[in-house]
Amino acid sequence: MLKRVLIANRGEIACRIIRTCRRMAIETVAVYSDADANALHVAMADDAVRLGPPPATESYLRGDLIIEAAQAMAADAVHPGYGFLSENPDFAEAVTEAGLIFVGPSADAIRAMGLKDRAKALMAEAGVPVVPGYLGDDQTPEVMAAQANDIGYPVLIKARAGGGGKGMRRVDNPDDFADALESARREAESSFGDGRCLIEKWIATPRHIEMQVFGDADRNVIHLFERDCSLQRRHQKVIEEAPAPGMTAAMRQAMGDAAVKGAEAVGYQGAATVEFIVDASDGLRPDRFWFMEMNTRLQVEHPVTEMITGLDLVEWQLRIAAGEPLPLSQEDVPLNGWAFEARVYAEDAGKGFLPTTGRLDYLSLPEDIARVDSGVRQGDVIAPFYDPMIAKIIVHGDSRTEALNAMRTALSQSFVAGTVANVAFLAALCADDAFASGQVDTGLIERNLDRLVQTPEAPTAAYALAVMAALGCFEPHNRADPWVTLTGWRQWSRERQTIDLSHNGVTEAIPVTCDSDSKLSFEHAGIAHAVEVRQVDGVHTVIVLDGKEVGARVVRHGRNITVFLGGAAHVFTRPDPLDGGEQVMAGDDRVLAPMPGLIKLVPVAPGACVRRGEPLVVMEAMKMEHTLRAPFDGTVAEVLVGEGEQVAADRLLLVMETQDP
Ligand code: ADP
Ligand code: ADP
Ligand code: MG
Repeated sequence: MLKRVLIANRGEIACRIIRTCRRMAIETVAVYSDADANALHVAMADDAVRLGPPPATESYLRGDLIIEAAQAMAADAVHPGYGFLSENPDFAEAVTEAGLIFVGPSADAIRAMGLKDRAKALMAEAGVPVVPGYLGDDQTPEVMAAQANDIGYPVLIKARAGGGGKGMRRVDNPDDFADALESARREAESSFGDGRCLIEKWIATPRHIEMQVFGDADRNVIHLFERDCSLQRRHQKVIEEAPAPGMTAAMRQAMGDAAVKGAEAVGYQGAATVEFIVDASDGLRPDRFWFMEMNTRLQVEHPVTEMITGLDLVEWQLRIAAGEPLPLSQEDVPLNGWAFEARVYAEDAGKGFLPTTGRLDYLSLPEDIARVDSGVRQGDVIAPFYDPMIAKIIVHGDSRTEALNAMRTALSQSFVAGTVANVAFLAALCADDAFASGQVDTGLIERNLDRLVQTPEAPTAAYALAVMAALGCFEPHNRADPWVTLTGWRQWSRERQTIDLSHNGVTEAIPVTCDSDSKLSFEHAGIAHAVEVRQVDGVHTVIVLDGKEVGARVVRHGRNITVFLGGAAHVFTRPDPLDGGEQVMAGDDRVLAPMPGLIKLVPVAPGACVRRGEPLVVMEAMKMEHTLRAPFDGTVAEVLVGEGEQVAADRLLLVMETQDP
């Protein structure tokens, strides 16, 4: 067995791998960037080595430094996790050449599957059904357009080197083809340094169903059933489950055979995922699934497979890397119940899923009732350098209904303050009827987006709780409260005063009259309310509002107050008298690119009403994300760029208009 493994990754997956190593009595070495010096994975590992500055290109993608660290720390193997260098054949090769074991497949297998066009050609040769399309070398736009016509619209243009949903464009009619190809190419060139594209037939009513496979040194390959990852947004997985709803024995047999055959064709060793696209317009039919790609690594959503099989996939990876045979034969792989995984991200669903950053001032995840795979703790910072994942919440139940109910409960017990997370969006998704009945397809989220991202109005109770928190009503009485002192509020005074609270960009001056340090009346939206503290236990508070009891979690952090109530996190901010407000652009109506960069996100469309300070465009430049914000309250008149576009400095991105009074 392996003795000491270096984990060439960070975050939840590094922690996940360390947990299994520890159980197997294998020592671990973590690596970290300066942004992660105090990260959980560093604290958990037996040893840790600094790689360099925060940007991944200077740290987690520095294969040379990682191999040096492995040698210096006398590790015998390197586990790459997912992302970063996990699918880089040159890295796998360098690890092996340095006399270390790469916990993953051979460099040749990675190479064979690394480019989607080559992988598809190889799979077709091996007899695996592949998505019909064009994989040709001739990349001239005219030839590509003619091929698209032959395939038949709609088509999907894909970067052959693509990953993470990048470099993909669906085209519905021939007139749009040339532009779509050009923009896919540009994105592919900037993200992967390879602009070559393939064209695929767009599969109708698409479902993403993938098979987990494992191969060993004796060239035995088995599968560990399927996962359904059809709940996607922009080709990125949001909630995954296993098994797949509606799966039949015949379909599973056909998909399993195809996946195993594909892995055998490249002499695969270790864990891989064979991703298929399924035409579900007529249920699951064994002649309606096609190979999309093979991911030659552990998959983000591997835990749902672990939950239904009771197996530890990282343990399997380590055993196989150490030369052991597959622990089970195909017939002996158990399948029990149902599992779901939800990806909790630092992103603002209400603002076009804008990635958010910030300190996790409060983080409470339902570890008592769900499996929580996370790489962060309360107090940690979600930095702009890496994937903004906070945690994966994984649940298991005897039936799909039971498991989905467990997920709903788990999400209702997930609390994040300090940065905006997608918890309410995930909860809304879990409440969707089509999802609940198993009628999933990759368009489900997009079709229901407006409903799923709705941010509920803060109820009066949230204002009541925020006002009380602002006044220090939930603080232990014996503690001198600097906030209370700052506001000039004197305890026990019946003085009338005004509390300024901003919520969703609107500042309200709330008149308050205090009866005691736990009882007051306030006015909100022109109506007077009486409120009283009933109970406080840390962040858990119970108040009586106009005679009715309300329980909530209330967190005060910095100038913010987050009220967790009814499945939503309502954030209130107390204006800082010393601060002129958040940084916004100059009062010009023309929003220009401040530097050359890549347009990551345009969360607004022409006609959108925005308030001063709201994000208009998110750019990536100098390896950092920059948010360009509205210079004034107004309307978006014109949007002149698209997501994925590379822009020069001073390029006109967007035009604003002042609102008619
Ligand atoms: P999965 O099916 O496992 O979600 P993805 O291909 O979507 O696979 O990506 C898995 C993870 O790998 C992502 O969460 C992301 O962190 C990372 N990743 C994917 N593509 C890239 C990329 N091009 N560059 C860096 N990291 C990536
Ligand atoms: P990536 O490497 O970015 O993961 P994939 O080829 O796996 O790229 O595709 C990502 C997602 O795009 C799939 O999960 C699926 O939802 C969608 N997709 C890919 N190919 C097709 C297709 N031919 N028809 C319909 N949807 C597709
Ligand atoms: Mg994929």
